[in-house]
Amino acid sequence: MTADNNPMRPYLGRLAGVRDLATGIKLFQVELTEPEGQATIGTYRPGQFAFVSAFGAGEAPFGIASVRGPYLEFAVNAIGHVTHTLHALEVGDPVGVRGPLGNWFPLDEIKGRDIVILGGGIGGAPLRPVIQTVLDRRADYGHLTILWAARSPDLLVFTDEFDEWAAAPDTEFHVTVDRGDDRWQGHVGLITKLLEEVDPATQNAVAITCGPPIMIHFVFLTLQKLGFTPQQMLTTLEARMHCGIGKCGRCNMGEKFICIDGPVFWQYEVAEFLEGFL
Ligand SMILES: Cc1cc2nc3c(=O)[nH]c(=O)nc-3n(C[C@H](O)[C@H](O)[C@H](O)COP(=O)(O)OP(=O)(O)OC[C@H]3O[C@@H](n4cnc5c(N)ncnc54)[C@H](O)[C@@H]3O)c2cc1C
Repeated sequence: MTADNNPMRPYLGRLAGVRDLATGIKLFQVELTEPEGQATIGTYRPGQFAFVSAFGAGEAPFGIASVRGPYLEFAVNAIGHVTHTLHALEVGDPVGVRGPLGNWFPLDEIKGRDIVILGGGIGGAPLRPVIQTVLDRRADYGHLTILWAARSPDLLVFTDEFDEWAAAPDTEFHVTVDRGDDRWQGHVGLITKLLEEVDPATQNAVAITCGPPIMIHFVFLTLQKLGFTPQQMLTTLEARMHCGIGKCGRCNMGEKFICIDGPVFWQYEVAEFLEGFL
């Protein structure tokens, strides 16, 4: 987990690939070049995150966006100093990675259950490794329902994977946007409206969601209305944080730290916290 036993020292790496995912969002593939760093790549679990450094600009935390392949993948929305600097990098440029950090989705514990995925905007990125895991170990899980959403069509992430998801065995895929455009012919409306229409079976199901806090709040309420219990709903949260290892005290939620007690939480652990975003 740490380079030189120093939890703040990133593993050195370089950008192996960059591609546009959506407006203002790029997917970065990172190759770690130190043997100690390379050894971490297969150890990331869906839900975990890492700090990615743009040297000279700083570092910022990002959820792991893939558990397939030889590289670490991160979906990065350009909103500030570090993220804009990352967006300006090119293939081959050096980066640093500090991770894996945080807890993960309890995918071993929920084997045999139906899985309902609800991703909003870039919040779909940390859910992609969950989808990959369920698809790669299809027999281990029940029915898979994926509900994917964004404010507008240009903000939908991983559109090039929609066909694979929709065609997977025992899987249904639904996508919606808050507002369409001239070319959009799909569903229009909030993800909560789509959720009510799809009305997934609750018995033996677990719902996993990520998106803006306000979306998570209303998705949880809608799931409850459909019959899901707090023990059947998971999410992953973001917060401003500097260290990622429970020392800086920036990301606390009551007595819990999002960096070490999370970022993955059950609904009953975060429901009150989410009400603060209303
Ligand atoms: C566990 C975790 C996982 C994350 N995963 C992703 C991911 O997969 N993809 C992604 O693009 N981002 C992700 N983020 C958010 C990302 O870390 C921030 O966008 C990043 O730190 C911004 O850095 P910056 O220097 O570019 O922006 P800054 O210059 O620091 O800030 C720009 C603006 O964004 C606001 N801001 C910065 N960070 C956050 C935040 N965490 N929440 C709300 N507002 C913020 C600031 O207040 C400021 O207004 C994650 C955060 C956490 C804690």
